[in-house]
Amino acid sequence: MDNKALAQLLFPDVECSREDMEACFPERELPEGAFVTRIGPSPTGFVHLGNLYNAVIGERLAHQSGGVFYLRIEDTDDKREVEGAVETVINAMGQFGVEFDEGATADGDNGSYGPYRQRQRAQIYHVFAKWLVEQDKAYPCFLTAEEINAVREEQMSKKQDPGIYGEYAKANRSLTIEEIKAKIDAGMPWVLRFKADMTDERIAVSDAVRGKIEMPRNFLDFVLLKSDGIPTYHFAHVVDDHLMHSTHVIRGEEWISSLPMHVELFNTLGWQMPVYCHTATLMKIDPETGGKRKLSKRKDPELALTYYQQEGLDKDVVWEFLLTLLNSNYEEWRAQNADADHTDFEFSLAKMSTSGALVDADKLRDISKDVIGRMAPDKVYDKWKQWCGTYNSRFFELLDKYEDRTKAALNVGKSGKKPRKDIESWKQACDFMSFYYDETFVIKDDMNEQADEETQKAFFSKYLASYDHADDSAAWFEKVRAITDELGFAVKPKDYKKNPDQYKGSIVHITNMLRIALTGRANAPDIHEVSHVLGEDIVRSRLEKFC
Ligand code: GLU
Repeated sequence: MDNKALAQLLFPDVECSREDMEACFPERELPEGAFVTRIGPSPTGFVHLGNLYNAVIGERLAHQSGGVFYLRIEDTDDKREVEGAVETVINAMGQFGVEFDEGATADGDNGSYGPYRQRQRAQIYHVFAKWLVEQDKAYPCFLTAEEINAVREEQMSKKQDPGIYGEYAKANRSLTIEEIKAKIDAGMPWVLRFKADMTDERIAVSDAVRGKIEMPRNFLDFVLLKSDGIPTYHFAHVVDDHLMHSTHVIRGEEWISSLPMHVELFNTLGWQMPVYCHTATLMKIDPETGGKRKLSKRKDPELALTYYQQEGLDKDVVWEFLLTLLNSNYEEWRAQNADADHTDFEFSLAKMSTSGALVDADKLRDISKDVIGRMAPDKVYDKWKQWCGTYNSRFFELLDKYEDRTKAALNVGKSGKKPRKDIESWKQACDFMSFYYDETFVIKDDMNEQADEETQKAFFSKYLASYDHADDSAAWFEKVRAITDELGFAVKPKDYKKNPDQYKGSIVHITNMLRIALTGRANAPDIHEVSHVLGEDIVRSRLEKFC
């Protein structure tokens, strides 16, 4: 077979050589040891936590080494593509604070290694496809879907490896150039397959996360170009990561099974392989079985990035959570560097876990409380309000109207040794902080659990009669103690515990009553502080209702 003639028949439009093409993507000028990383999401319309998980790794490795982090849109699978999905990915990454140096952006591409959308690179792949045909390493295959199904069934019945190889590849591999031309002229669709060696050899790849991965060498005549001339993931990955000079390929562990194809392609094309970093699958504890399982798109809303936005989980919180999942020493570092920016932490591939990464809702909530707890009230106000702008218009208006009160409220409980950490998400903040506004204030807890109605009336009348808004915390509390005693309640909770028959209750019941009247719930921040945020008029009007 004249492979040059076949290559010309298959790719008549390709005029440039592989050398010409490579010259368009010169080596990057970067400092020694700089990482070039990327994410390659497929525009399916669904951006998941795994995309962000891998983005965090790539971003950290590139930016802490003075390298480049870019966004490549892997849109080779048109069956999965959804209208507007590219914008969805770009927006989602932007909203989670992922900063790319190059790649697809909302208004076109940015960078000199583009295009950064694979469908727009079809001509580039064809140059290398043509070269592979010339080298007798690729051939056109005319197998129909029915024929491939029949092969699969035969292989299943014979318990053979699935795929096109050996015997199953023979008919198409041995077509003459005349036969190929006749089929093409007759309009028969064809794909371009890699011409693999039948081999029992094994390969070993040194993965930066998992260490040495040993696998059988590829023996499959896998597809390089589909019948529309668009490459498969495998071919596009190898060509793009070579031309764009990715030093590290960070991708999910589901790609490990395809690794032999990628190794084969890099070797055949004579290119150096990037360092592979196969990341652990995101897992959760199944609430029903108590066992660990993969996060599922169908069952688990927390797999979608939109979930974090809708729940009002701040981008800083999600980064903190992912870094905690990713590097085993992150939490310890954070404990010692409470106020540092996460970018000060030195991210390392060696500290990554290979067993599934556990997405634990309680952990996320705790991290969120810590991160928001550390933020200055003005920053909390701005971020919360911004979220409300999209997700809660009622609260947006309240925050706008009561800016000073809200900022003061966000400062409540912050001065002591153990600052309060009440806010776990912007959504929950709308609930937790609702008592600061008459418009959303409701009594949630039952006052009658603390004392009978007669006692309530007596207490609130006395309290208001002696209430002086100017009292400091000590003077205020002294008055509460005095009324507690007058009403026959124990001023010291332990006295009540010892002799419950001698008292109507303890000071805890009294302060709970006050809290419920003022905030709607027994579990709320410091009454004196809250009263000063609300102001005397609101305090009096809320308490008068119980007199
Ligand atoms: N398009 C692939 C995916 O969505 C990306 C894998 C890679 O990063 O190479 O899983």
